[in-house]
Amino acid sequence: MFVTKTGCEIYIACEKPEIEDYESRYQNECFGRWLPPRVRFTIAHEIGHTLLYGSVKNSKPKSRIAVDHHRTLESLEDLCDGVAGRILMPTDIIRLKAQQSDFYNPDILRGIAQEAKVSASAVVRRIGEMGGLLSDMGAFAYAKGTDHKREIIAFSTHSSLSPIFANARPGQLLSTFVQHTTKGFILNGGNCYVEVVEFPEQPEWARYFEFRCETQASKGDHLGFFVTARLVNQADPTKHLC
Ligand SMILES: [Zn+2]
Repeated sequence: MFVTKTGCEIYIACEKPEIEDYESRYQNECFGRWLPPRVRFTIAHEIGHTLLYGSVKNSKPKSRIAVDHHRTLESLEDLCDGVAGRILMPTDIIRLKAQQSDFYNPDILRGIAQEAKVSASAVVRRIGEMGGLLSDMGAFAYAKGTDHKREIIAFSTHSSLSPIFANARPGQLLSTFVQHTTKGFILNGGNCYVEVVEFPEQPEWARYFEFRCETQASKGDHLGFFVTARLVNQADPTKHLC
């Protein structure tokens, strides 16, 4: 983003052959609705930066935040990612969706990514921060890789469950998240997409989680898949639902 006398200009890095395509998508089709998710998120992120600048009334807008340390820069970037998430997945719409559908169903999360035209990682982050809206506590992940090595790309969890999933974070193996699931679970070679598992080392209130993996029909050609874990009541173990 460049700050000019009249405001801010946002530029997107892309390959040369993409320039014309992106230009026409932006100009002709509902102002960017059909731009690729990465580009849409970048634009929304940069719009986030513009909110931190002063007025353009008398002079070139000035940043309201002094970025004098890499930590300030990191938290500024996180803040703008958060703004981008809110622009692309507005709170009111996500709240309504949360009332109408089960966010612990990974196929529903894929539907949100497609509808909002955002990346799967952006959905995981946004649903994570909206966790308070959900009636159940849990965790959300997006992972990629082969049967032998699956890696977490995005992860979020309800804050009170953070200690339970302390090792599950982007860049780590998916096994840090699904380690308690059994051989019957689809990710371990079984054929069940849903499994309730016990975390014996956890206190009683956090001992059972229902893990769900995105179905093949929902995943389609995407390289990654959603996995969720919902805290459930011990008295209601649905064990394997295939
Ligand atoms: Zn930025």
